[in-house]
Amino acid sequence: MDDLKFGTRNKRGDWAPNQPAETAPLFAFPLRLMAILKWLPHYFFPWNTIFAASAVAYWAWVIPPVETMQTLDIGWIAWLYAVNAICVLLFYGAFEVHLYVLKRQENRFKYNGKFPSEQKNKAFWFERQNVDNMLRTFLSGVTIWTAIEAAMLWAFANGYAPWLSFAEHPWTLALVALVVPIIHEFHFFCIHRLIHTPFLYKWVHSVHHNSVNPSPWSSLSMHPVEHLLYLGTAFYHLILPSNPILMLYQLHYAGFGAIPGHVGFDKVEIGRGKLIDSHAYAHYLHHKYFEVNYGDALIPLDKWFGTWHDGSAEGEAQMQERYRRRKEKLAARKARLEVGEAAE
Ligand SMILES: [Zn+2]
Ligand SMILES: [Zn+2]
Repeated sequence: MDDLKFGTRNKRGDWAPNQPAETAPLFAFPLRLMAILKWLPHYFFPWNTIFAASAVAYWAWVIPPVETMQTLDIGWIAWLYAVNAICVLLFYGAFEVHLYVLKRQENRFKYNGKFPSEQKNKAFWFERQNVDNMLRTFLSGVTIWTAIEAAMLWAFANGYAPWLSFAEHPWTLALVALVVPIIHEFHFFCIHRLIHTPFLYKWVHSVHHNSVNPSPWSSLSMHPVEHLLYLGTAFYHLILPSNPILMLYQLHYAGFGAIPGHVGFDKVEIGRGKLIDSHAYAHYLHHKYFEVNYGDALIPLDKWFGTWHDGSAEGEAQMQERYRRRKEKLAARKARLEVGEAAE
């Protein structure tokens, strides 16, 4: 597959798409009906369908009977941890092996020409990005994921969360299922913006940003506080008219859904000539530039707050202009303080 039909590669070997990153047309005014219809299949396939199907499969084969979950017991919670860990290992591992170990598509469609394994870096545990990222994923990521999952299932089993049945309330639940990704986007943008404030960035979020050149295992490589905030989207189902399957979908949307944004490739080649869009460009730019694209562009929150970068020269100019204005503001504040001190 010739990736130069879709983009360009610079001297460093970094590939960039010809098409700038786009926000979903959902919240554009005036309403662009045709654009929404054209975009709709991408909303469902393949990613959201995979995460929703995994929730159904969990309910069918993994989640213990309701009576068991009425009491918090280490037995069934350890079982959930084991299944979550195996699923993460298989799902994340599949991308890692395909793209980073066997390098089946070499650097075609790869945003950053380098592979993280090529460099040692002191920022990481054992100076290896992969080892660090994997340990963080399984030590705190899957642990906190499982803890939230168990707490929510316990709440449903004891009647502390509104549990609607699919037979009696199909339309309400269909609507909630449809907005699961929108809840995630809203929640992610808010907590992400919060942990980019100086104090929380230094102590919490910088762990995730150590991976400037993200790879699949970077997805859940976070500080435990960020794991709690990020996977905490499941708690919305304590107040929403919902169902444990939709709560699991919400959790899987965060847990497994972190993958597409961090694969590091714009398109994943599957078989001969078949390409799957990762939609990772916006989040890749976040890892590259830090202070742009706090959201994943499902709701155009970054556009509304002036932090959107679509990867184009225009996006770059807007970002530089924002940095320049901020520098000016800081310089002016410093000058004011100095004048104040001199007057004293
Ligand atoms: Zn990230
Ligand atoms: Zn960030």
